[in-house]
Amino acid sequence: MAYQVLARKWRPQVFEDVIGQTHIARALQNAVKAGKVAHAYLFSGPRGVGKTTMARILAKALNCSEGPTPAPCNRCAPCQEIAGGSSVDVLEIDGASNTSVEDVRELRETVKYVPFQGKHKVYIIDEVHMLSNSAFNALLKTLEEPPPHMVFIFATTEPHKIPSTIRSRCQHFQFKRISRRDIVNRLNYITAQEAIKMGEAELFLLAKGADGSMRDALGLLDQALAYGGPQVRQEDLLTIMGVVDRPQILEMIQAIQRKDASKAMGQVRKLVDQGHDLRQFCHELVEVVRDLLMLKISKQPEALVECPSEELEELKALSQGFSLEELQWLFSIFSQTHEEIKNFFYPPFLVEMAVVRATRIHSVEPLDKILEKVLTLEKQLQHSAETISAPSSTSSSLTSPPSMVQPEVGMSPPPQRSTSDHLGPNPGHNEASSEVSPLDRSGQWQKVLQGVKEKRPYLASYLDRGVLMSLTGEELVIGYPKASSFFIDLIHKEENLSLITSTIQECFQKTLKFKVLLVESLPDMERSVHSSKADIHPVVKEALKILGGEIVDPKP
Ligand SMILES: [Zn+2]
Repeated sequence: MAYQVLARKWRPQVFEDVIGQTHIARALQNAVKAGKVAHAYLFSGPRGVGKTTMARILAKALNCSEGPTPAPCNRCAPCQEIAGGSSVDVLEIDGASNTSVEDVRELRETVKYVPFQGKHKVYIIDEVHMLSNSAFNALLKTLEEPPPHMVFIFATTEPHKIPSTIRSRCQHFQFKRISRRDIVNRLNYITAQEAIKMGEAELFLLAKGADGSMRDALGLLDQALAYGGPQVRQEDLLTIMGVVDRPQILEMIQAIQRKDASKAMGQVRKLVDQGHDLRQFCHELVEVVRDLLMLKISKQPEALVECPSEELEELKALSQGFSLEELQWLFSIFSQTHEEIKNFFYPPFLVEMAVVRATRIHSVEPLDKILEKVLTLEKQLQHSAETISAPSSTSSSLTSPPSMVQPEVGMSPPPQRSTSDHLGPNPGHNEASSEVSPLDRSGQWQKVLQGVKEKRPYLASYLDRGVLMSLTGEELVIGYPKASSFFIDLIHKEENLSLITSTIQECFQKTLKFKVLLVESLPDMERSVHSSKADIHPVVKEALKILGGEIVDPKP
Protein backbone atom coordinates (compact mmCIF):
# COMPACT_ATOMS: atom_id res chain seq x y z
CA MET A 1 0.00 0.00 0.00
CA ALA A 2 1.23 3.45 -0.86
CA TYR A 3 2.52 5.55 2.02
CA GLN A 4 -0.12 7.87 3.35
CA VAL A 5 1.21 11.06 4.91
CA LEU A 6 0.62 11.24 8.64
CA ALA A 7 -1.47 14.42 8.49
CA ARG A 8 -3.92 12.64 6.23
CA LYS A 9 -3.82 9.32 7.98
CA TRP A 10 -4.42 10.89 11.39
CA ARG A 11 -6.91 13.48 10.31
CA PRO A 12 -9.55 13.60 13.08
CA GLN A 13 -12.80 11.91 12.08
CA VAL A 14 -14.97 12.87 15.07
CA PHE A 15 -15.44 16.15 16.94
CA GLU A 16 -13.65 14.85 20.03
CA ASP A 17 -10.41 14.25 18.11
CA VAL A 18 -9.94 17.84 16.96
CA ILE A 19 -7.41 19.10 19.49
CA GLY A 20 -7.31 22.58 20.95
CA GLN A 21 -10.74 23.61 19.61
CA THR A 22 -13.09 22.00 22.09
CA HIS A 23 -15.11 25.22 22.48
CA ILE A 24 -16.07 25.07 18.80
CA ALA A 25 -16.61 21.31 18.65
CA ARG A 26 -19.00 21.49 21.57
CA ALA A 27 -21.00 24.39 20.11
CA LEU A 28 -21.39 22.58 16.78
CA GLN A 29 -22.37 19.30 18.43
CA ASN A 30 -25.02 21.11 20.45
CA ALA A 31 -26.36 22.80 17.32
CA VAL A 32 -26.64 19.46 15.52
CA LYS A 33 -28.29 17.85 18.54
CA ALA A 34 -30.82 20.68 18.84
CA GLY A 35 -31.47 20.81 15.09
CA LYS A 36 -30.32 24.43 15.02
CA VAL A 37 -27.59 24.30 12.42
CA ALA A 38 -26.99 27.69 10.76
CA HIS A 39 -27.02 28.22 7.00
CA ALA A 40 -23.58 29.73 6.98
CA TYR A 41 -20.52 29.34 9.17
CA LEU A 42 -17.29 31.25 9.11
CA PHE A 43 -14.30 29.34 10.48
CA SER A 44 -11.30 31.62 10.93
CA GLY A 45 -7.88 31.04 12.46
CA PRO A 46 -4.24 30.25 11.65
CA ARG A 47 -3.39 27.57 9.11
CA GLY A 48 -3.32 23.94 10.12
CA VAL A 49 -5.45 24.23 13.25
CA GLY A 50 -8.40 22.12 12.05
CA LYS A 51 -10.78 24.43 10.18
CA THR A 52 -11.51 22.23 7.15
CA THR A 53 -11.26 19.12 9.30
CA MET A 54 -13.98 20.51 11.55
CA ALA A 55 -16.03 21.46 8.47
CA ARG A 56 -15.88 17.90 7.14
CA ILE A 57 -16.86 16.45 10.49
CA LEU A 58 -19.83 18.82 10.61
CA ALA A 59 -20.80 17.70 7.09
CA LYS A 60 -20.66 14.08 8.24
CA ALA A 61 -22.67 14.90 11.36
CA LEU A 62 -25.38 16.36 9.13
CA ASN A 63 -25.40 13.71 6.41
CA CYS A 64 -24.52 10.50 8.30
CA SER A 65 -27.21 7.91 7.60
CA GLU A 66 -27.72 7.71 11.36
CA GLY A 67 -27.92 11.48 11.57
CA PRO A 68 -28.10 14.31 11.92
CA THR A 69 -26.01 13.25 14.88
CA PRO A 70 -23.28 14.87 17.02
CA ALA A 71 -21.33 11.60 16.68
CA PRO A 72 -21.16 10.55 13.00
CA CYS A 73 -20.64 6.80 12.57
CA ASN A 74 -17.79 6.97 10.01
CA ARG A 75 -18.98 3.59 8.63
CA CYS A 76 -21.99 4.44 6.46
CA ALA A 77 -21.64 5.36 2.78
CA PRO A 78 -22.20 9.13 3.23
CA CYS A 79 -19.61 9.28 6.05
CA GLN A 80 -17.02 7.40 4.01
CA GLU A 81 -17.66 9.41 0.87
CA ILE A 82 -17.28 12.67 2.75
CA ALA A 83 -14.05 11.45 4.36
CA GLY A 84 -12.76 10.37 0.94
CA GLY A 85 -13.80 13.63 -0.72
CA SER A 86 -16.15 11.92 -3.20
CA SER A 87 -19.54 12.90 -1.80
CA VAL A 88 -21.84 14.61 -4.31
CA ASP A 89 -23.64 16.46 -1.53
CA VAL A 90 -20.55 17.86 0.14
CA LEU A 91 -18.48 20.06 -2.13
CA GLU A 92 -15.09 21.39 -1.19
CA ILE A 93 -14.15 24.46 -3.16
CA ASP A 94 -10.78 26.16 -3.07
CA GLY A 95 -11.48 29.87 -2.87
CA ALA A 96 -7.99 30.63 -4.14
CA SER A 97 -8.56 29.00 -7.54
CA ASN A 98 -12.28 29.69 -7.98
CA THR A 99 -12.29 33.40 -7.41
CA SER A 100 -14.43 34.65 -10.29
CA VAL A 101 -18.08 35.58 -10.39
CA GLU A 102 -18.69 32.80 -12.95
CA ASP A 103 -17.50 30.20 -10.47
CA VAL A 104 -19.95 31.49 -7.90
CA ARG A 105 -22.80 31.65 -10.46
CA GLU A 106 -22.16 28.02 -11.29
CA LEU A 107 -22.26 27.24 -7.60
CA ARG A 108 -25.55 29.10 -7.22
CA GLU A 109 -27.06 26.97 -9.99
CA THR A 110 -26.24 23.77 -8.11
CA VAL A 111 -27.47 25.16 -4.80
CA LYS A 112 -31.03 25.03 -6.14
CA TYR A 113 -31.08 21.25 -6.39
CA VAL A 114 -31.94 19.16 -3.40
CA PRO A 115 -29.25 16.87 -1.96
CA PHE A 116 -28.67 13.70 -3.94
CA GLN A 117 -28.64 11.21 -1.09
CA GLY A 118 -27.89 13.07 2.14
CA LYS A 119 -30.10 15.44 4.05
CA HIS A 120 -28.03 18.56 3.48
CA LYS A 121 -26.00 20.07 0.71
CA VAL A 122 -22.79 21.34 2.30
CA TYR A 123 -20.41 23.75 0.57
CA ILE A 124 -17.01 24.08 2.16
CA ILE A 125 -15.18 27.06 0.67
CA ASP A 126 -11.57 27.19 1.78
CA GLU A 127 -9.54 30.43 1.63
CA VAL A 128 -12.81 32.26 1.05
CA HIS A 129 -11.12 35.67 1.43
CA MET A 130 -9.58 35.13 -2.03
CA LEU A 131 -12.95 35.52 -3.78
CA SER A 132 -13.40 38.64 -5.91
CA ASN A 133 -15.84 41.34 -4.88
CA SER A 134 -18.32 40.41 -7.59
CA ALA A 135 -18.08 36.78 -6.50
CA PHE A 136 -18.90 37.83 -2.95
CA ASN A 137 -21.90 39.79 -4.23
CA ALA A 138 -23.18 36.78 -6.12
CA LEU A 139 -22.70 34.67 -3.01
CA LEU A 140 -24.58 37.21 -0.93
CA LYS A 141 -27.73 36.66 -3.01
CA THR A 142 -27.73 32.99 -2.04
CA LEU A 143 -27.03 33.76 1.60
CA GLU A 144 -29.93 36.21 1.71
CA GLU A 145 -32.45 33.52 0.77
CA PRO A 146 -30.84 30.20 1.58
CA PRO A 147 -32.63 27.00 0.51
CA PRO A 148 -33.52 25.01 3.66
CA HIS A 149 -31.19 22.08 2.89
CA MET A 150 -28.11 24.20 2.31
CA VAL A 151 -25.15 24.81 4.64
CA PHE A 152 -22.15 26.98 3.73
CA ILE A 153 -18.91 26.65 5.67
CA PHE A 154 -16.34 29.30 4.88
CA ALA A 155 -12.79 28.79 6.09
CA THR A 156 -10.21 31.56 6.13
CA THR A 157 -6.98 32.70 7.69
CA GLU A 158 -7.94 36.33 7.07
CA PRO A 159 -11.50 37.00 8.23
CA HIS A 160 -11.04 40.79 8.05
CA LYS A 161 -10.87 40.54 4.25
CA ILE A 162 -14.40 39.20 4.05
CA PRO A 163 -17.10 41.81 3.37
CA SER A 164 -19.15 42.60 6.44
CA THR A 165 -22.36 41.84 4.52
CA ILE A 166 -21.19 38.23 4.24
CA ARG A 167 -19.71 38.04 7.71
CA SER A 168 -22.88 39.29 9.35
CA ARG A 169 -24.82 36.39 7.82
CA CYS A 170 -22.45 33.76 9.20
CA GLN A 171 -21.98 32.22 12.58
CA HIS A 172 -18.34 33.04 13.20
CA PHE A 173 -16.03 30.62 15.02
CA GLN A 174 -12.45 31.62 15.77
CA PHE A 175 -10.02 28.72 15.85
CA LYS A 176 -7.10 29.01 18.23
CA ARG A 177 -3.44 28.29 17.69
CA ILE A 178 -2.83 24.87 19.19
CA SER A 179 -0.67 24.99 22.32
CA ARG A 180 2.63 23.16 22.31
CA ARG A 181 1.46 20.95 25.09
CA ASP A 182 -1.64 19.91 23.12
CA ILE A 183 0.49 19.18 20.07
CA VAL A 184 2.93 17.16 22.17
CA ASN A 185 0.09 15.11 23.67
CA ARG A 186 -1.37 14.35 20.26
CA LEU A 187 2.07 13.53 18.78
CA ASN A 188 2.73 11.27 21.73
CA TYR A 189 -0.42 9.32 20.93
CA ILE A 190 0.26 9.11 17.20
CA THR A 191 3.92 8.09 17.57
CA ALA A 192 2.92 5.34 19.99
CA GLN A 193 0.37 4.01 17.47
CA GLU A 194 2.89 4.21 14.64
CA ALA A 195 5.72 2.61 16.68
CA ILE A 196 7.88 5.70 16.23
CA LYS A 197 10.54 6.18 18.92
CA MET A 198 10.74 9.73 20.15
CA GLY A 199 11.65 11.33 23.50
CA GLU A 200 9.94 14.24 25.25
CA ALA A 201 12.61 16.73 24.19
CA GLU A 202 12.17 15.72 20.54
CA LEU A 203 8.38 16.00 20.81
CA PHE A 204 8.65 19.53 22.21
CA LEU A 205 11.17 20.50 19.56
CA LEU A 206 8.76 19.32 16.86
CA ALA A 207 5.85 21.13 18.48
CA LYS A 208 7.93 24.29 18.62
CA GLY A 209 8.72 24.06 14.91
CA ALA A 210 5.05 23.46 14.15
CA ASP A 211 4.19 26.89 15.58
CA GLY A 212 0.64 26.05 16.61
CA SER A 213 -0.26 23.98 13.55
CA MET A 214 -0.97 20.27 13.91
CA ARG A 215 -0.65 19.78 10.17
CA ASP A 216 2.85 21.28 10.21
CA ALA A 217 3.79 19.12 13.20
CA LEU A 218 2.86 15.96 11.33
CA GLY A 219 4.55 17.26 8.17
CA LEU A 220 7.79 17.75 10.10
CA LEU A 221 7.44 14.29 11.60
CA ASP A 222 7.07 12.83 8.11
CA GLN A 223 10.26 14.59 7.06
CA ALA A 224 12.12 13.36 10.12
CA LEU A 225 11.02 9.78 9.44
CA ALA A 226 12.14 10.02 5.83
CA TYR A 227 15.48 11.43 7.00
CA GLY A 228 16.36 9.16 9.89
CA GLY A 229 13.91 6.25 10.12
CA PRO A 230 11.55 5.31 12.96
CA GLN A 231 13.99 6.47 15.65
CA VAL A 232 13.64 10.25 15.61
CA ARG A 233 16.79 11.91 16.94
CA GLN A 234 17.20 15.49 18.06
CA GLU A 235 20.09 16.15 15.64
CA ASP A 236 17.90 15.10 12.72
CA LEU A 237 15.13 17.43 13.79
CA LEU A 238 17.56 20.31 14.26
CA THR A 239 18.92 19.75 10.77
CA ILE A 240 15.46 19.62 9.21
CA MET A 241 14.17 22.62 11.12
CA GLY A 242 17.37 24.67 10.86
CA VAL A 243 17.29 25.70 14.52
CA VAL A 244 20.13 26.05 17.01
CA ASP A 245 20.15 23.30 19.59
CA ARG A 246 19.02 24.15 23.08
CA PRO A 247 22.33 23.53 24.91
CA GLN A 248 24.04 26.10 22.68
CA ILE A 249 21.35 28.68 23.45
CA LEU A 250 21.60 27.98 27.17
CA GLU A 251 25.41 28.17 27.06
CA MET A 252 25.09 31.61 25.52
CA ILE A 253 22.69 32.73 28.25
CA GLN A 254 25.07 31.39 30.89
CA ALA A 255 28.00 33.26 29.36
CA ILE A 256 25.92 36.46 29.43
CA GLN A 257 25.01 35.80 33.03
CA ARG A 258 28.67 35.42 33.98
CA LYS A 259 29.47 38.57 31.95
CA ASP A 260 31.95 36.43 30.02
CA ALA A 261 32.13 38.37 26.76
CA SER A 262 34.90 36.32 25.17
CA LYS A 263 33.07 33.05 25.76
CA ALA A 264 29.89 34.57 24.32
CA MET A 265 31.80 35.80 21.26
CA GLY A 266 33.21 32.30 20.82
CA GLN A 267 29.65 31.00 20.77
CA VAL A 268 28.70 33.41 18.01
CA ARG A 269 31.73 32.32 15.99
CA LYS A 270 30.74 28.68 16.45
CA LEU A 271 27.21 29.36 15.20
CA VAL A 272 28.54 31.16 12.15
CA ASP A 273 30.92 28.27 11.42
CA GLN A 274 28.05 25.81 11.72
CA GLY A 275 26.15 27.84 9.15
CA HIS A 276 23.26 28.79 11.43
CA ASP A 277 20.82 31.52 10.60
CA LEU A 278 21.67 34.24 13.14
CA ARG A 279 18.25 35.82 12.91
CA GLN A 280 16.73 32.51 13.95
CA PHE A 281 19.30 32.40 16.76
CA CYS A 282 18.16 35.83 18.03
CA HIS A 283 14.57 34.65 17.79
CA GLU A 284 15.38 31.70 20.01
CA LEU A 285 17.35 33.79 22.48
CA VAL A 286 14.41 36.18 22.80
CA GLU A 287 12.15 33.22 23.45
CA VAL A 288 14.37 31.85 26.21
CA VAL A 289 14.71 35.29 27.83
CA ARG A 290 10.94 35.61 27.75
CA ASP A 291 10.63 32.20 29.42
CA LEU A 292 13.13 33.22 32.11
CA LEU A 293 11.09 36.35 32.76
CA MET A 294 7.88 34.34 33.08
CA LEU A 295 9.59 31.96 35.48
CA LYS A 296 10.59 34.92 37.62
CA ILE A 297 7.24 36.67 37.82
CA SER A 298 4.64 33.93 37.55
CA LYS A 299 3.48 31.75 40.40
CA GLN A 300 2.42 29.06 37.94
CA PRO A 301 5.01 29.31 35.18
CA GLU A 302 4.23 25.81 33.87
CA ALA A 303 1.16 27.26 32.17
CA LEU A 304 3.18 29.97 30.42
CA VAL A 305 6.45 28.23 29.66
CA GLU A 306 5.97 25.32 27.32
CA CYS A 307 8.98 23.04 27.49
CA PRO A 308 9.92 19.57 28.75
CA SER A 309 9.77 19.28 32.54
CA GLU A 310 13.50 18.58 32.79
CA GLU A 311 14.34 21.77 30.95
CA LEU A 312 11.88 23.74 33.05
CA GLU A 313 13.98 23.01 36.14
CA GLU A 314 17.12 24.07 34.32
CA LEU A 315 15.50 27.34 33.22
CA LYS A 316 14.19 28.01 36.73
CA ALA A 317 17.71 27.73 38.12
CA LEU A 318 19.03 29.99 35.38
CA SER A 319 16.38 32.65 36.01
CA GLN A 320 17.53 32.99 39.62
CA GLY A 321 20.79 34.54 38.43
CA PHE A 322 19.08 37.44 36.64
CA SER A 323 17.14 40.41 37.93
CA LEU A 324 13.87 41.32 36.24
CA GLU A 325 15.43 44.49 34.88
CA GLU A 326 18.36 42.58 33.37
CA LEU A 327 16.01 40.20 31.60
CA GLN A 328 14.02 43.10 30.21
CA TRP A 329 17.25 44.59 28.89
CA LEU A 330 18.28 41.31 27.30
CA PHE A 331 14.87 41.01 25.73
CA SER A 332 15.11 44.41 24.12
CA ILE A 333 18.73 43.92 23.00
CA PHE A 334 18.02 40.68 21.15
CA SER A 335 14.61 41.58 19.78
CA GLN A 336 16.15 44.77 18.39
CA THR A 337 19.00 42.79 16.85
CA HIS A 338 16.50 40.35 15.38
CA GLU A 339 14.83 43.30 13.69
CA GLU A 340 18.00 45.05 12.51
CA ILE A 341 19.68 41.94 11.16
CA LYS A 342 17.40 41.90 8.10
CA ASN A 343 19.03 44.97 6.59
CA PHE A 344 22.55 44.57 7.89
CA PHE A 345 25.38 43.83 5.47
CA TYR A 346 27.10 41.29 7.71
CA PRO A 347 24.86 39.84 10.45
CA PRO A 348 27.64 38.28 12.57
CA PHE A 349 28.96 41.78 13.44
CA LEU A 350 25.57 42.85 14.68
CA VAL A 351 25.14 39.76 16.83
CA GLU A 352 28.65 40.14 18.23
CA MET A 353 27.89 43.71 19.28
CA ALA A 354 24.59 42.65 20.80
CA VAL A 355 26.29 39.92 22.78
CA VAL A 356 28.95 42.31 24.08
CA ARG A 357 26.24 44.75 25.12
CA ALA A 358 24.39 41.92 26.81
CA THR A 359 27.43 40.91 28.86
CA ARG A 360 27.97 44.49 29.96
CA ILE A 361 24.58 45.30 31.43
CA HIS A 362 24.91 45.82 35.13
CA SER A 363 22.08 45.05 37.39
CA VAL A 364 19.71 47.95 36.93
CA GLU A 365 18.34 49.44 40.12
CA PRO A 366 14.65 50.16 40.50
CA LEU A 367 13.60 53.77 39.95
CA ASP A 368 12.78 54.58 43.57
CA LYS A 369 16.20 53.39 44.72
CA ILE A 370 17.89 55.62 42.13
CA LEU A 371 15.77 58.57 43.21
CA GLU A 372 16.62 57.93 46.82
CA LYS A 373 20.31 58.05 45.97
CA VAL A 374 19.94 61.23 43.93
CA LEU A 375 18.05 62.95 46.73
CA THR A 376 20.55 61.86 49.36
CA LEU A 377 23.35 63.14 47.20
CA GLU A 378 21.57 66.42 46.75
CA LYS A 379 21.10 66.86 50.49
CA GLN A 380 24.74 66.08 51.14
CA LEU A 381 25.85 68.60 48.55
CA GLN A 382 23.62 71.24 50.00
CA HIS A 383 24.76 70.54 53.50
CA SER A 384 28.42 70.80 52.62
CA ALA A 385 27.74 73.99 50.69
CA GLU A 386 26.07 75.51 53.73
CA THR A 387 28.92 74.51 55.97
CA ILE A 388 31.60 75.96 53.73
CA SER A 389 29.98 79.18 52.58
CA ALA A 390 29.52 82.27 54.70
CA PRO A 391 26.24 82.55 56.60
CA SER A 392 25.03 85.40 54.41
CA SER A 393 25.52 83.65 51.07
CA THR A 394 22.91 81.38 49.56
CA SER A 395 23.38 77.67 49.71
CA SER A 396 23.77 77.47 45.97
CA SER A 397 26.91 79.53 45.70
CA LEU A 398 29.18 76.54 45.35
CA THR A 399 27.24 74.60 42.82
CA SER A 400 25.83 77.23 40.51
CA PRO A 401 27.47 79.49 37.98
CA PRO A 402 27.75 83.08 39.25
CA SER A 403 25.12 84.40 36.88
CA MET A 404 22.53 82.35 38.65
CA VAL A 405 23.15 83.63 42.15
CA GLN A 406 23.49 87.29 41.30
CA PRO A 407 20.02 88.46 40.41
CA GLU A 408 19.73 91.06 37.71
CA VAL A 409 18.04 94.32 38.42
CA GLY A 410 14.30 93.90 38.47
CA MET A 411 14.37 90.22 39.30
CA SER A 412 12.88 88.91 42.47
CA PRO A 413 15.25 88.48 45.40
CA PRO A 414 16.85 85.09 45.99
CA PRO A 415 14.24 82.66 47.18
CA GLN A 416 13.98 81.68 50.77
CA ARG A 417 15.20 78.30 51.72
CA SER A 418 12.52 75.70 51.53
CA THR A 419 11.60 73.39 54.34
CA SER A 420 13.05 70.51 52.41
CA ASP A 421 16.52 71.81 53.08
CA HIS A 422 16.05 70.64 56.60
CA LEU A 423 14.97 67.15 55.83
CA GLY A 424 18.28 65.78 54.67
CA PRO A 425 19.56 62.53 56.08
CA ASN A 426 22.39 64.19 58.01
CA PRO A 427 21.84 63.45 61.67
CA GLY A 428 23.46 66.65 62.91
CA HIS A 429 21.30 68.87 60.78
CA ASN A 430 18.84 71.28 62.37
CA GLU A 431 15.41 69.72 61.96
CA ALA A 432 13.21 72.62 63.08
CA SER A 433 11.74 74.49 60.18
CA SER A 434 11.42 78.24 60.01
CA GLU A 435 9.41 78.12 56.80
CA VAL A 436 6.11 76.32 56.97
CA SER A 437 3.18 76.31 54.66
CA PRO A 438 0.59 78.94 55.59
CA LEU A 439 -1.89 76.09 55.79
CA ASP A 440 0.20 74.33 58.42
CA ARG A 441 -0.20 76.90 61.19
CA SER A 442 0.04 74.48 64.05
CA GLY A 443 3.03 72.70 62.49
CA GLN A 444 1.17 69.41 62.29
CA TRP A 445 2.31 68.63 58.76
CA GLN A 446 5.91 69.27 59.78
CA LYS A 447 5.39 66.78 62.57
CA VAL A 448 4.13 64.21 60.12
CA LEU A 449 7.12 64.82 57.85
CA GLN A 450 9.45 64.44 60.79
CA GLY A 451 7.70 61.26 61.89
CA VAL A 452 7.96 59.76 58.42
CA LYS A 453 11.56 60.82 58.15
CA GLU A 454 12.53 58.96 61.28
CA LYS A 455 11.11 55.74 59.88
CA ARG A 456 11.90 56.10 56.18
CA PRO A 457 14.06 59.11 55.25
CA TYR A 458 13.67 58.82 51.47
CA LEU A 459 9.88 58.77 51.78
CA ALA A 460 9.98 62.04 53.73
CA SER A 461 11.99 63.60 50.94
CA TYR A 462 9.34 62.50 48.40
CA LEU A 463 6.62 64.04 50.55
CA ASP A 464 8.60 67.20 50.97
CA ARG A 465 8.61 67.65 47.19
CA GLY A 466 4.87 68.14 47.34
CA VAL A 467 2.90 71.10 48.60
CA LEU A 468 0.36 71.03 51.35
CA MET A 469 -2.91 71.80 49.58
CA SER A 470 -5.41 71.27 52.34
CA LEU A 471 -5.33 70.34 56.01
CA THR A 472 -8.64 70.02 57.81
CA GLY A 473 -9.92 67.89 60.63
CA GLU A 474 -10.99 65.38 57.97
CA GLU A 475 -8.26 65.19 55.40
CA LEU A 476 -4.73 66.04 54.46
CA VAL A 477 -4.02 66.75 50.79
CA ILE A 478 -0.62 67.04 49.14
CA GLY A 479 -0.21 68.33 45.59
CA TYR A 480 2.55 67.77 43.06
CA PRO A 481 3.26 69.73 39.90
CA LYS A 482 3.48 67.81 36.65
CA ALA A 483 7.28 67.82 36.67
CA SER A 484 7.30 65.92 39.95
CA SER A 485 4.41 63.63 39.17
CA PHE A 486 6.61 60.53 39.42
CA PHE A 487 6.67 61.07 43.18
CA ILE A 488 2.95 60.37 43.23
CA ASP A 489 3.48 56.82 42.00
CA LEU A 490 6.23 56.27 44.52
CA ILE A 491 4.09 57.53 47.39
CA HIS A 492 1.19 55.40 46.22
CA LYS A 493 3.16 52.23 46.82
CA GLU A 494 1.30 50.25 49.43
CA GLU A 495 4.11 50.10 51.98
CA ASN A 496 4.64 53.87 51.71
CA LEU A 497 0.96 54.74 52.01
CA SER A 498 0.50 52.61 55.09
CA LEU A 499 3.52 54.21 56.78
CA ILE A 500 2.23 57.71 56.00
CA THR A 501 -1.30 57.06 57.24
CA SER A 502 -0.05 55.46 60.43
CA THR A 503 2.24 58.45 61.05
CA ILE A 504 -0.65 60.84 60.45
CA GLN A 505 -2.66 58.93 62.98
CA GLU A 506 0.15 59.19 65.53
CA CYS A 507 0.47 62.96 65.04
CA PHE A 508 -3.22 63.84 65.00
CA GLN A 509 -4.42 61.13 67.35
CA LYS A 510 -7.12 60.35 64.80
CA THR A 511 -7.50 59.00 61.27
CA LEU A 512 -7.40 61.56 58.46
CA LYS A 513 -7.93 60.89 54.79
CA PHE A 514 -4.60 61.23 53.02
CA LYS A 515 -4.72 62.30 49.38
CA VAL A 516 -2.03 62.96 46.80
CA LEU A 517 -2.98 65.03 43.76
CA LEU A 518 -1.45 66.17 40.52
CA VAL A 519 -1.91 69.95 40.37
CA GLU A 520 -1.81 72.28 37.39
CA SER A 521 -0.32 75.23 39.24
CA LEU A 522 1.02 75.63 42.73
CA PRO A 523 0.39 78.47 45.15
CA ASP A 524 2.84 81.30 44.40
CA MET A 525 5.09 80.96 47.38
CA GLU A 526 5.52 77.24 46.97
CA ARG A 527 6.08 77.49 43.27
CA SER A 528 8.89 79.98 43.68
CA VAL A 529 10.50 77.65 46.16
CA HIS A 530 10.26 74.76 43.76
CA SER A 531 11.38 76.51 40.64
CA SER A 532 14.26 78.15 42.40
CA LYS A 533 15.28 74.77 43.66
CA ALA A 534 15.44 73.59 40.09
CA ASP A 535 17.45 76.66 39.16
CA ILE A 536 20.06 76.34 41.80
CA HIS A 537 20.64 72.62 41.91
CA PRO A 538 22.50 71.05 39.03
CA VAL A 539 21.93 67.75 40.82
CA VAL A 540 18.21 68.10 40.23
CA LYS A 541 18.84 68.89 36.60
CA GLU A 542 21.08 65.87 36.36
CA ALA A 543 18.40 63.74 37.98
CA LEU A 544 15.81 65.01 35.54
CA LYS A 545 18.15 64.25 32.68
CA ILE A 546 18.71 60.70 33.90
CA LEU A 547 15.09 60.06 34.70
CA GLY A 548 13.66 61.77 31.65
CA GLY A 549 11.52 64.33 33.51
CA GLU A 550 11.16 68.02 32.79
CA ILE A 551 10.77 71.22 34.76
CA VAL A 552 7.44 72.81 34.03
CA ASP A 553 7.26 76.59 34.07
CA PRO A 554 10.47 77.33 35.97
CA LYS A 555 9.93 81.13 36.16
CA PRO A 556 6.50 82.12 37.42
ZN1 LIG B 1 -22.28 7.70 9.11
